Amino acid sequence: MNITELTVHELREKLDKKELTSEEITKAYVDRINDKEKDINAFVTTTLDEALNKAKEIDKEKNSEKLENSYAGIPLGIKDNMCTKGVKTTCSSRMLENFIAPYDATVVNKLVNEENLISLGKLNMDEFAMGSSTETSYFKKTKNPWDLSRVPGGSSGGSAAAVAANMVPWALGSDTGGSIRQPASLCGVVGLKPTYGLVSRYGLVAFASSLDQIGPITKDVEDSAILLSLIAGHDEKDSTSANVPKKDYTKNLKKDIKGLKIGVPKEFFGDGINKDVKEALEKAIEVYKELGAEIGEISIDVAEYALATYYIIACAEASSNLGRFDGIRYGHRAKDFENLKDLYKNSRSEGFGAEVKRRIILGTYVLSAGYYDAYYKKAQKVRTLVQNEFSRGFERYDVLLTPTSPITAFKFGEKTENPLEMYLSDICTVSVNIAGLPRNISSLRSR
Ligand code: GLN
Repeated sequence: MNITELTVHELREKLDKKELTSEEITKAYVDRINDKEKDINAFVTTTLDEALNKAKEIDKEKNSEKLENSYAGIPLGIKDNMCTKGVKTTCSSRMLENFIAPYDATVVNKLVNEENLISLGKLNMDEFAMGSSTETSYFKKTKNPWDLSRVPGGSSGGSAAAVAANMVPWALGSDTGGSIRQPASLCGVVGLKPTYGLVSRYGLVAFASSLDQIGPITKDVEDSAILLSLIAGHDEKDSTSANVPKKDYTKNLKKDIKGLKIGVPKEFFGDGINKDVKEALEKAIEVYKELGAEIGEISIDVAEYALATYYIIACAEASSNLGRFDGIRYGHRAKDFENLKDLYKNSRSEGFGAEVKRRIILGTYVLSAGYYDAYYKKAQKVRTLVQNEFSRGFERYDVLLTPTSPITAFKFGEKTENPLEMYLSDICTVSVNIAGLPRNISSLRSR
């Protein structure tokens, strides 16, 4: 048996039956990371000794009531934009190169402190989660485990690559415009962007607060449902967290889907969607048909404006959120400066990479007095149209099926020269964030 190839639900079964100890499982991952990290570059920080020590402690306590029948003792990886007390949280940026948070993000608290999962470390990402290839990381380029000359996607590229390479059994990612789903897709693993508000964002370093959402990256759908069940739930520390009862998302997994109405938006199958991607989707549609689902076509015609809308809103929010990194309250402080203005300027110039600067400039521009109405306000109006159109779609269909990425994993450097090309790789995912999906948040609240 190769421990690192097992899913989490398989690991859990073996722990429960005492066929494996937490120490054996953790050791297998530590060995795997020591073997593979030099090729994959998935981690910014590893905490392997701490992980092994915690595993030993958990094994000692495993028979106690508190830890029985739980996921205690199973390892995980955490994207490096979620605060972890005592361990660096860098957002893969020079700006936060040495930042150690004084507290744990709510998701980390739930998983590591309450459920007693074991963190193996912090995973690489695009700087401040801005990108679709993990190439904007200040520290390193994570490679796609299936082909080391290709990108793993982004921004949660470290999380997706680590799961695909069996370096962690599962991981947390964050998704503002596709950053869980797209890297999961490019690495051939399962990624889920939960409904906005379902998972607390407390302790997630903000990129675009009205779009950001934390979610699971796993080997299979069952693990995804398990991890979502562990992290979902109301949190009074996050004012946008939805006050809904806790749910077991694994409950309906094995139900049949006879009569399920699946809508396929035709706009997501047009030009720009690569042939291999279309074929994969068509095959998936055939499988759903065989399982008894009813497939129908639908039109979401405002989708063509979603990408522009996303980049206006995301950059606007980012320019405001990243204002706190001034070298005084937070972040890298320049050594050379003559006065206060200089200190701000030099710290931010040195601390941020090119993509982050581009977004701050774009965001400041669309929020500026002369352009606010033309860009930001208009984008907010289109956002409402996108939400309405998806709501109409869900009146007729139970689910909507679209590709995740218009292309398969691309080569390093292929899109870094032209930012617009890179932005186009988000074309299939951003409308979901704009609309707060997969569920309509108001229907979630009224339940
Ligand atoms: N690729 C998108 C962007 O660069 C999405 C990022 C994300 O979801 N964090 O904005």
